[in-house]
Amino acid sequence: MARAPSTSGSSQGQFDLDLAGAIELIKKSGARTVGVQVPEGLKRMASDLARDIQEETCAEVIVSGDPCYGACDVDLDLCRAADLVIHVGHSEMLEGDPLHDKVVYVEARIRADVREAVEGAADLLSARRVGVVTTVQHVHKLAEVLEVLKGRGIDGVVRPGGRTRYAGQVLGCNYKAARNADVDEYLFVGTGQFHPLGVALATGKRTVAADPVTGNVSVIDAAQMLKRRYGAIARAGDAERIAVIVSKKPGQRRMELARRMISLGEERGKRMVLVYLDRMEPDALVNLGVDAAVSTACPRIALDDQAKYNIPILTPPEFEVLLGERKGDYLLDEIP
Ligand code: SF4
Repeated sequence: MARAPSTSGSSQGQFDLDLAGAIELIKKSGARTVGVQVPEGLKRMASDLARDIQEETCAEVIVSGDPCYGACDVDLDLCRAADLVIHVGHSEMLEGDPLHDKVVYVEARIRADVREAVEGAADLLSARRVGVVTTVQHVHKLAEVLEVLKGRGIDGVVRPGGRTRYAGQVLGCNYKAARNADVDEYLFVGTGQFHPLGVALATGKRTVAADPVTGNVSVIDAAQMLKRRYGAIARAGDAERIAVIVSKKPGQRRMELARRMISLGEERGKRMVLVYLDRMEPDALVNLGVDAAVSTACPRIALDDQAKYNIPILTPPEFEVLLGERKGDYLLDEIP
């Protein structure tokens, strides 16, 4: 496995990338123009990657300058402009656009040792059988995680998911690997709070997070997020004009779901408008003059970015709650 170029001490030095495999594929394919798409957190490595690919293959390299947050967001314009696209940092989704055939996925693996964080998390776990989930950046460490848990008398359960490539892997929009574990408690190993919060919301079960990079461990508290989400639903109660957003991104496009939301709203006398866009930004909605929006794009937009918008942004299940179509426990929006 080739090491990612490590420049100016920036965070990409924490990752391993299998660039050698991608370079072999480029050579075999005979591609003359190669696109490179790098997610925001690793963008600063793009110029080094372009240089390495160009030197090794003699192909012309075009770097995508647009933001990218997941494998849902393969740059299809770049696919048209290049013979092959190297998509860095995410694993392939098990479905997608026909142009995905032109894409080579180069996953980024975080080198950080997981043992210390998992030992710390074991102190917080209360069950002796726990579901273990992670993101693609740490999925190569799952065997080690299970070993540490076993040493503490805890049986770690790892199950395959939905649109994810690896057993135990979750995405911000898919927690099937967690639900498939059929346990009463979860351990999430990885960075950030969004994914473990997603596990807690998707399963309704106690979730412990262990961050191998910072060494922090915590029990996830989903109550604040739930309060904010029910607040957004309540604020949308008076909305008359409602936009239903459909993303153009290949792995986020949910047109049928959006049409169902339009019908539901119209049946309740709302003025509904179907909006197709590439990137959901506050300005785009302000100019539409709507009172609320239902986003069928990345589910993280409503949950993570609500503060950026001056109107309530609901997920489809939240919109169903607003219309009285859905009752019971909170249902997290997921893309199957
Ligand atoms: S839809 Fe959102 S959560 Fe799912 S992979 Fe894309 S960016 Fe990540």
